[in-house]
Amino acid sequence: MERLFQQYIEARKACHLPTGNITPDLISSAIEKQKPILAEKYHCQQVEFKVVIEDGKPKIKARPNCSRHECRLRPPPAEGRHDRLRINCERCSHRHSPLPFTPGDPLANAYLKACLLADEELAARVTITLRDFFVSDPAATCITEILATEPDAVGFSVYLWNRQACIDTARQLKDAKPDLTIFAGGPEPTAAPERMLAEFPFDFLVMGEGEHTFIEAMDTLWKGKPVRGVKGVAALYEGNLVYRPRPLVPFLDTLPSPYLSGMLDVEQGGGALWQLSRGCSFGCDFCFDYQGAEGVRRFGMERIREELDWFVQHRVAQVFVLDSTFNRDLLLAKEVLRLIKRRAPHIHFHFEVRSEFIDAELARLCSTITCSSRSAFKAPILRS
Ligand code: SF4
Repeated sequence: MERLFQQYIEARKACHLPTGNITPDLISSAIEKQKPILAEKYHCQQVEFKVVIEDGKPKIKARPNCSRHECRLRPPPAEGRHDRLRINCERCSHRHSPLPFTPGDPLANAYLKACLLADEELAARVTITLRDFFVSDPAATCITEILATEPDAVGFSVYLWNRQACIDTARQLKDAKPDLTIFAGGPEPTAAPERMLAEFPFDFLVMGEGEHTFIEAMDTLWKGKPVRGVKGVAALYEGNLVYRPRPLVPFLDTLPSPYLSGMLDVEQGGGALWQLSRGCSFGCDFCFDYQGAEGVRRFGMERIREELDWFVQHRVAQVFVLDSTFNRDLLLAKEVLRLIKRRAPHIHFHFEVRSEFIDAELARLCSTITCSSRSAFKAPILRS
């Protein structure tokens, strides 16, 4: 309270307003009167206060302290009541993508949506909207679009390149709508959860591989319960990080395909991201592909064939293959190349390969399709 009082006095001074009649008791009693009203409004037992200056005037603003205390997103729905939870999942990408094309599909978020909608019970209770922004879009524009759907929760897919844009948007969203639940997933939150939660306005984080954690977290939000405690969710509780890891999805084919389930619509002649595997067996210290997922899990050939046919049917022109070491399993890589040669020799594929595993047959197969590649090689210096 003392700190809040000092901040308020400083803010009044900055606005050239008198401070003589302001006392700590005055501030304290005003806040005590507001607490029950705000707790009712936000369905939250704990509300925190901060001083802001708006339109040249100092104000004390309240926000629910959701992730740190026993509080709820909203009251649990009455029995038999099926009000829908509205979720937005945001991706910010670069207008000038380092990929050979600007992918039109927020693939990670589409995996989440496909997985959630495959759960019939949850699909009936949750509306999920995917949104795609550029990092150069002003936060105010993003916020207007996001709030237009009146979401209950907003999630951000946070990477190195869009971190600041996501944080700026999340901060302004929280200021505009303090009772909104804001969460994040992706490499950045997974790598540094404590900092993400302590310094930025995320109520919780979906750590690592997100599909199953996301479904359970959304179900928990719909029931009006705290998501802290859901496996794979990281949150702060009384200043401490709470996190129980969730095992990886053992068989990737159990995850619905975002393409085959209609979550993504690639425009004719556009580009698509195509995930063939998750993880990596090389374990370079700096790389997220390896973190927490030693070894490689691959999608099966039937799924690969069906998605490839989908690209052909939807006249996709370019495909960036998400398989960090495509040719680590040479037999499988050759099988995929033969499949492409038979079904989609006209589509341009971009692979990431390890140069030490390229043999003459692989090189010859590559020459029979339309493709480019980026190669890495074995370098002991990469490993500490
Ligand atoms: S080989 Fe590549 S994908 Fe695998 S851990 Fe190293 S940098 Fe990451």
